[in-house]
Amino acid sequence: MKAPEMIIADRPPDVKEIHIVWMTTGLGCDGDSVSITAASLPSIEDVVLGAIPGLPKVHVHNPVLAYEVGDDFMKHWFDAAAGKLEPFVLVLEGSVPNEKIKKEGYWAAMGTDPATGQPITTNEWIDRLAPKATAVIAAGTCATYGGIHAMEGNPTGAMGLCDYLGWDWKSKAGLPVVNVPGCPVQPDNMMETLLYLLYQVAGLAPIIPLDDQLRPTWLFGKTVHEGCDRAGYYEQADFAKEYGSPKCLVKIGCWGPVVNCNVTKRGWMDGVGGCPNVGGICIGCTMPGFPDKFMPFMDAPPGSALSTVVVGVWGGVLRGLRAITNRAVNKEPKWRHPRGELTTGYEPKFYGQNRN
Ligand code: SF4
Ligand code: SF4
Ligand code: SF4
Repeated sequence: MKAPEMIIADRPPDVKEIHIVWMTTGLGCDGDSVSITAASLPSIEDVVLGAIPGLPKVHVHNPVLAYEVGDDFMKHWFDAAAGKLEPFVLVLEGSVPNEKIKKEGYWAAMGTDPATGQPITTNEWIDRLAPKATAVIAAGTCATYGGIHAMEGNPTGAMGLCDYLGWDWKSKAGLPVVNVPGCPVQPDNMMETLLYLLYQVAGLAPIIPLDDQLRPTWLFGKTVHEGCDRAGYYEQADFAKEYGSPKCLVKIGCWGPVVNCNVTKRGWMDGVGGCPNVGGICIGCTMPGFPDKFMPFMDAPPGSALSTVVVGVWGGVLRGLRAITNRAVNKEPKWRHPRGELTTGYEPKFYGQNRN
């Protein structure tokens, strides 16, 4: 797929308030909503309490985080669908089931349609809200690519938001869906992207840079391996044979060398954590092919057998040579002693004089 073209959205007139309508009504576990409560760059509290310079007042309508219930909470959704909540950013969490293949009942819904007395399905909410939203974010791998619920053999026909709306879909402001994958999303990745779009909706930021999978380029441009604390072990062909080892985990199931994710650089909370850094194999949870293409999780990735043999040849030699050098630089120079003689090699110079 081609990367989205650069689009400059018109600066909206004097935006004083922005709403975030966060749907958790996809097939999901609410893990992405829980995840953002751990964010600090920025925190959700900073965003809603007005601590971010230049940002208009922000209102978040998320069923997991809201204290309003029932009609009081649903009012914002109906207002958004009626065009009375302007402007708003729509966030979808969870994958989109295919209601067209359900003969009776429904797969997922939220609220009741006053006109029919029937539940309003997730599909219908997307149909109502997406055309009214200024920007749309798919949060988590379920919403971006389908994730766990879209595994082979699933009965719901689950898919990601772009599969449902179309990969070329654009919001009324001309913005494509922004995908922030992860199972769950890394907290700061999600809040940073949300903040970028809030600034953009307020007319204070240029178009968000996205890759061909509609991910923010600065967050998903590198692999897990490129930022991993254990990459030095990989380079020297020093591979863990069991969990609990501090060495490279590639032989016990780590997919880091081919997975786009920044948690080894960014950590998970406040810079701490990030799967392989703290002993967990990378299972590719940010990727479009997750989970099917990465299973069974504990097996060595198919390409790793060859790559570790190649790395092993020169990595072993390198490790041996470095061990020799390491022993040498771990010794103090021989001229540091308390004896009554100077052995540093110092020679006084008497410029302009014949020393002999
Ligand atoms: Fe839960 Fe993961 Fe799906 Fe998010 S992406 S809803 S954390 S299963
Ligand atoms: Fe790469 Fe995984 Fe090894 Fe880290 S643990 S160096 S990501 S293969
Ligand atoms: Fe997911 Fe791998 Fe990133 Fe961990 S390192 S969050 S498993 S993609």
